[in-house]
Amino acid sequence: MPTDPVLVVHGGAWAMPDDMVEAHIRGVNNALAAGWRVLERGGSALDAVEEAVVVMEDDETFDAGRGSFLNRDGRIQLDALIMDGSTLRAGGVGCVEHLRNPVRAARKILSESPHVYFVGEGAEKFAAQHGLPLCRNEELVIPREVERLREYQAEANSHGNELFAPTTDDVTISHDTVGAVALDRNGNIAAATSTGGTLNKAPGRLGDSSLIGCGCYADNESAAASTTGWGEPIMKLVLAKWTCDRIAAGNLPEWAAQEAMNYLKQRVNGHGGIIVLDPHGHFGIAHNTPRMAWAYRTMKKQDAGVVREG
Ligand code: ASP
Repeated sequence: MPTDPVLVVHGGAWAMPDDMVEAHIRGVNNALAAGWRVLERGGSALDAVEEAVVVMEDDETFDAGRGSFLNRDGRIQLDALIMDGSTLRAGGVGCVEHLRNPVRAARKILSESPHVYFVGEGAEKFAAQHGLPLCRNEELVIPREVERLREYQAEANSHGNELFAPTTDDVTISHDTVGAVALDRNGNIAAATSTGGTLNKAPGRLGDSSLIGCGCYADNESAAASTTGWGEPIMKLVLAKWTCDRIAAGNLPEWAAQEAMNYLKQRVNGHGGIIVLDPHGHFGIAHNTPRMAWAYRTMKKQDAGVVREG
């Protein structure tokens, strides 16, 4: 008997100001619609998460694709991962500077390479060889982000600290990474995550988002998860895999998502959010930040918001 599809997406977790709520909800709903079109016609969870993430990479509201945060040198460096829960195949890219849709490159790696992960120029070369267009880095940069970096660096200088970085419990710094988890009619799950990383990051810095098991994971024998938030603490806990393991041990995704956020806070004083979905269609959405943009759709219900009550 075919499974009823489920799709859950997120667009970052932080103290999102009121005037940004509408754009975030519109963005996650657009992503949901794109992913759902795939699932509805019987397409795979893998295709659905890719399409959902592409929509958010193309939306300047989010820290993914064009419009992402700038690194310390004023350049954009993007990371993404996609994973198929039915085969455990995964594709990841890190520190790419010339791709509008890093998740498409990640998907090509998953489908067409024996490797799992490519970084920098090698990733771009692989993408180009597999038919993806390259762009100039400047095409990914938008004035809002130039201004945001300028303000941030001015603040850092006023502290006399070039390497000024917010502490892990500063939730006012935005985390607008995007992600999706899906269950398709064949009972397979998949996950994808894409990000521009953190504001003013050092060139070459890689966050959790594209690291397998940290910002993204999928296994039909446990669950599919995508995280957002301060990457360094999330990486230390390998949080996406940690959460999936709780589900494999018999816990419900709703509980596991909340536990993951508690663990993140208690163990490493981290902040962020997570979406997680099991192959039975149970899902959890949790964040320990004031807000997180999320949306989900099942055969019976569809909803979106920026606060998820525990
Ligand atoms: N987790 C991402 C990173 O640290 C940032 C985010 O979620 O917005 O690169």
